[in-house]
Amino acid sequence: MKAIVKTEAAPGLSLVDIPDPEIGINDVLIRIQKTSICGTDVHIYQWDDWAKETIRVPQTVGHEFAGVVEEVGSNVTDLYPGDVVSGEGHIVCGRCRNCLAGRRHLCNATSGVGVNRDGAFGEFLAIPITNVWHADPAIPLEVLSLFDPLGNAVHAALSWDLLGEDVLITGAGPIGVMSVVVARHAGARHVVITDYNPYRLALARKCHASVALDLNEETIAGAQSELGMSEGFDVGLEMSGNPQAVNDMLANMAHGGKISLLGIQGENATVDWDDVIFKGLTIKGIYGREMYETWYKMTAMIQSGLDISPLITHRFHYTEYEKAFEVAAAGESGKVVLDWTEPG
Ligand code: NAD
Ligand code: ZN
Repeated sequence: MKAIVKTEAAPGLSLVDIPDPEIGINDVLIRIQKTSICGTDVHIYQWDDWAKETIRVPQTVGHEFAGVVEEVGSNVTDLYPGDVVSGEGHIVCGRCRNCLAGRRHLCNATSGVGVNRDGAFGEFLAIPITNVWHADPAIPLEVLSLFDPLGNAVHAALSWDLLGEDVLITGAGPIGVMSVVVARHAGARHVVITDYNPYRLALARKCHASVALDLNEETIAGAQSELGMSEGFDVGLEMSGNPQAVNDMLANMAHGGKISLLGIQGENATVDWDDVIFKGLTIKGIYGREMYETWYKMTAMIQSGLDISPLITHRFHYTEYEKAFEVAAAGESGKVVLDWTEPG
């Protein structure tokens, strides 16, 4: 099959022919139809320090996908060729305390599709049946290919009561903007999102943010008074991975506010803990998606009108992956989707 592979420990990726993946008795072979590029894939492409430490070559990359079942292992009894699927990219151990208790998203030994094992940017992907999401075929495949990052947004946002609440989202990357859509759907009053990137702020406005705030020109406190808010935000969703954004958020939270931290902060990020203490804030770290409550909620919300399709700003055939990665790395994009339905 054709696949986009990190063939050597250096920047770049190659489109190469490799053997089709083999399946075990509990696995499902998926014929990939659409994939979407994540920041993680860009890190692997660019071969930054994290990638150098984490990725073993050769390895197929990618973990955001939608496809149809091609073949199932002999133990798989409830999924059939042709079924439309996506899948959870965190393969859990099944044996640790949290896995055994049904809290699989808190597994202490996850393996990442396209990170620690071969990924989805190929004509076929093999994963365990326990990682396959049997999808509603009415959901467009390209939207389904966004379920992994949408799940990050849904997990972070739905960790808290949002109905009638004022929500601050720091970082208007794809996941931040998806969080705007989710918070709106969940009935938030004001949804304010911040960034320095005008392209992404424009996308957030298109997705019905109350205020998409350009930090080059305005402050979060200014937005609060513009909206007639006096006590601060009830819910904060940190989606930038920038320590300054965390501190901006802490400074603008209401007493008793709730915060989800999704953006990866890096080492030695400094936080004003006194804001957390004196305001009585609750902070929750978010990693991945709940298996599979988040997937259920994504499906149910899309079936009831949640529309993330404006987030897809670029589409390429998989043979044009170089161009696609260039766009994804430049920051002037929402989600960049690769098509695998047409032959190469
Ligand atoms: P992204 O990098 O595309 O977007 C981040 C945005 O934050 C950018 O538009 C950037 O301009 C903006 N930003 C930078 N500094 C800022 C500041 N001080 N205030 C406001 N905005 C600022 O990222 P993404 O793909 O949308 O993902 C969001 C974050 O979540 C990233 O940090 C990513 O690594 C992380 N992530 C975490 C998980 C998880 O499971 N915890 C999963 C996926 C992604
Ligand atoms: Zn486990």
